[in-house]
Amino acid sequence: MNLCEDCALCCMDTEMPLSDKDIALILTFLKSEIKEEDFIEYKSEGLRQLKNKEGCCFFLDIKQKMCKIYDFRPTGCRFYPIVFDIENRKCIYDKDCPRTKLFHLPNKAYNTLCNQIKKFLMNELDVPI
Ligand code: SF4
Repeated sequence: MNLCEDCALCCMDTEMPLSDKDIALILTFLKSEIKEEDFIEYKSEGLRQLKNKEGCCFFLDIKQKMCKIYDFRPTGCRFYPIVFDIENRKCIYDKDCPRTKLFHLPNKAYNTLCNQIKKFLMNELDVPI
């Protein structure tokens, strides 16, 4: 069962960052159906993130409230609802997700995932943490 069924709040007004690998994966699966500029928003700091269309992620099927690229969605979408709070330099369950209780991990798994998030930010997005 998809724990996110009938929600999709996290896919609205998304600011999900995209790495080179995320972009390459999406383009591999969608091949000629899509161009980079269709789904990438280029930020002034050189970062790239998912583009919104009518207030939702370009890849959200609004009627079904489902991700159209679920099997090859970006890394940050896979980590969610655990995110890195840059200001406080720690991983947290995103307060905007109304169902975080469904995703609670045991401490060891949480720490492992947090380390993966930090590595992703540092190595693939060049975010200093
Ligand atoms: S790629 Fe999929 S999971 Fe990620 S924000 Fe877009 S619709 Fe949501």
